[in-house]
Amino acid sequence: MLKELSVGIGLGVVVFLLANGYNIGPLVLLGLLGIGTYYLAQTRGLVKTFSKVTADNEVGVSFADVGGQAAAIQELREALDFIRHHDEIKRLGIRPLKGILLTGPPGTGKTLMAKAAAHYTDAVFLSVSGSEFIEMYAGVGAQRVRRLFQEARETARKRGKRYAVIFIDEIDILGGKRGQTTSHLEYDQTLNQLLVEMDGLGIDDEVLILVVAATNRPDMLDPALLRPGRFDRQVRVELPDREGRIEILRLHTRNKPLADDVDLDGIARETFGFSGAHLESLANEAAILAMREGAPEIRQVHFLEAIDKVVMGGKLDRRPSKEEIRRVAVHETGHAILSEMVQPGSVSTITVTPRGNALGYIRQVPEDDKYLHTQDYLEDRIAICLAGAVAEEVVCGSRSTGAANDFEQAVHYAETLVRGGMSEIGIVAPGTLPQELKHQTISRILQKQEERVRAILNERQQVMSRIVEKLLVSEKLSGQEFRNLLAGEN
Ligand code: ATP
Repeated sequence: MLKELSVGIGLGVVVFLLANGYNIGPLVLLGLLGIGTYYLAQTRGLVKTFSKVTADNEVGVSFADVGGQAAAIQELREALDFIRHHDEIKRLGIRPLKGILLTGPPGTGKTLMAKAAAHYTDAVFLSVSGSEFIEMYAGVGAQRVRRLFQEARETARKRGKRYAVIFIDEIDILGGKRGQTTSHLEYDQTLNQLLVEMDGLGIDDEVLILVVAATNRPDMLDPALLRPGRFDRQVRVELPDREGRIEILRLHTRNKPLADDVDLDGIARETFGFSGAHLESLANEAAILAMREGAPEIRQVHFLEAIDKVVMGGKLDRRPSKEEIRRVAVHETGHAILSEMVQPGSVSTITVTPRGNALGYIRQVPEDDKYLHTQDYLEDRIAICLAGAVAEEVVCGSRSTGAANDFEQAVHYAETLVRGGMSEIGIVAPGTLPQELKHQTISRILQKQEERVRAILNERQQVMSRIVEKLLVSEKLSGQEFRNLLAGEN
């Protein structure tokens, strides 16, 4: 619109000057120069508008479209309720929430969740990627950040919305630790500008802006970004477990004709380690295979073939083998049994779905803060740490590299015992303690606990196998399910 108007006015001026006999040569030259500079700036990305602006009704994604992320959605929704009830927040003088950081592996639905957040708060949604801010030219990134916030405000105002959600994907590119990149000045300026913009957001603004950012590497982020008042809510978006995968498969097959023999539960069992994006691609591939065959409906064989296609086509980074998953189940069961032995009721969940860097994990009921640790407590912790490796040895006949972190922790507890004068060598001066003696004492502490754990697990081989089988089928056991199995119930 503005463009057409300027061209019209420009032409009008030229005709007027020509009609009155003026020499318009210099004016034309000046005009051409201006157009050339604008064109260059645009192709170099110096002038940039963020085109992926969408109103909530165009986004059309709600939390119901995100599968297998119940815990993450719950957390996100609680945070968003803060915004929806901003009058109450203002009345109580609570600091408004400005940023939410979604962390987790690729393709797990972080973008989807940000869109659903916009839908939930009836906000305009702007989506950008961290890489869009980075240019060779100093100051360009910072200017883009300013424009992004401006655009969010303007778009919301134009559409009569009270809220705007800005989604920044791959924030680690823009928000990495300052002073670490080669062209650090540009990166730092861009990040500083983002911090300035976020600090400037207030509860009284005409348009309330919420920044939702996503990253696979939260450890790379500059600590300034995680300070209160910026991204002070972190929501982990994990790979879906079996039930989550069934839910996602249901979502992505709801618009597809399925034959009666399709067993989504079976497909979910075969797709351990798949993300939401993989499952979406799987459903799509299955439909393509059915179309190629000219079949009226998608059958189970199409899905099974599509799994191979997704796995073999290199779409999956890495998929643990069945043997590996079994070993992980044995390992986690070992930890859980010991945890339950030394502190009944302490296991809250066991899962063999990969989380973060771990292939599986047990979650323990959080303990109260402890300022003093007794000898028994420290020895019990060591036993829990060692139980994973010992369980592997008892059930699988050998250990694996999966226990390296556990050992590190066990050694740390053993060192605390030695330093605290609770080992067999009594009170020591840590600075003058000979390395050899320290090493031997720690080894003996670890060995004693290892034997204790071995005796406990050897006695419970049967129940351990039962728990492992159950875990392999459902991928996750609640603390209560685990305790029932341990007590011999089915
Ligand atoms: P990245 O980190 O690579 O940006 P992401 O976590 O943002 O990935 P999305 O872009 O949200 O992932 O997901 C890509 C596509 O995968 C979605 O458009 C959707 O079709 C599908 N998908 C991913 N996760 C889910 C989920 N939890 N429920 C339903 N569909 C999902």
